[in-house]
Amino acid sequence: MSILLLTSVPSEEETMWLNSLRASLPEEDIVLQDQVRDKEAVDLAIVANPPQGVLSTLPNLKWIQSLWAGVDALLDDPTLPENSPLVRLIDPTLARSMAESVATYTLMLHRKFPLYVSQQSETNWKQHDMPLAVDRQVGILGLGEMGRASAQLLSQLGFNVRGWSRSLKNVEGVECFSGQQGLSDFLKGLDVVVNLLPLTSETRGILSRSLFEQLPKGAGLLNFGRGGHQVEGDVINALDSGQLSHAVLDVFSQEPLPKDNPLWQHPNITLLPHVAAPTNPGTAVQIVTENVRSFRATEVMPKTVERTAGY
Ligand code: NAP
Repeated sequence: MSILLLTSVPSEEETMWLNSLRASLPEEDIVLQDQVRDKEAVDLAIVANPPQGVLSTLPNLKWIQSLWAGVDALLDDPTLPENSPLVRLIDPTLARSMAESVATYTLMLHRKFPLYVSQQSETNWKQHDMPLAVDRQVGILGLGEMGRASAQLLSQLGFNVRGWSRSLKNVEGVECFSGQQGLSDFLKGLDVVVNLLPLTSETRGILSRSLFEQLPKGAGLLNFGRGGHQVEGDVINALDSGQLSHAVLDVFSQEPLPKDNPLWQHPNITLLPHVAAPTNPGTAVQIVTENVRSFRATEVMPKTVERTAGY
């Protein structure tokens, strides 16, 4: 049997993935699309932004391994074969990397870094009061792999941490909320809200005026989930009115963000080019290797994405 590596990433990146996967799984026949001799022999696919319409031509595909944690773009593909289960990347290294980003930018807002940067540009020496981390409430939307790791690190830093998920969770040091009813209570009194939700039909557009209005005036926002979570006009209006004091945005509906998008120029936005938690090829290849070997040995599939839920 063969494994198809199917991507639309730049060719040097694709070659890096191919060489790393072949080195880690020498017992497997791993091929690119133009090297497939017999479509019936392909039983697994490893994908990163795969071009549409290819996976559906493989009649014996048992499952699809994504090299990314988020699968919203894959699930948006109308040609994705319905009966091939989808496995997303679950990598503790990725979650730690996300937790580092969440901690970095939460501390940046907590320590009023944007304010001091703007004061420096005006040669303005002015000290502001400095609440302690224990006096701050930080809320994380999404308590999955990314959310839990981030919540735990923030809690270790001394913040009061809340988390919101679809089903109620129990995470040490984190006050947990769930469902639509729990959202309003979760949002009350937050100094910073961090989005780490997957993009689904339920979560699209969640970072909107109605959510911002439930936060205390002057709260901070970190969006490290997906661009489709934020209503860009509502983010700008909330910043202009002071309802939000600052937003750190890593993800956008269109990436790269077009140069004429007003988000680039907003003084109260810190803009990142989708770098909150990039896939780490070294650990990702190890995880894919374990998934493939375990499947070959036992025929048991790794944990799969729940397609109806969208994540
Ligand atoms: P995950 O393990 O699947 O966790 C998702 C969390 O969101 C779960 O706690 C889930 O609730 C919750 N959730 C889903 N739908 C919800 C809803 N309608 N209402 C309330 N809670 C809901 O995902 P993950 O690995 O943590 O990744 C989350 C997202 O981060 C990815 O989908 C991706 O978009 C994004 N991401 C971004 C970057 C970056 O560099 N910016 C990197 C990696 C990932 P339950 O626990 O009840 O299921």
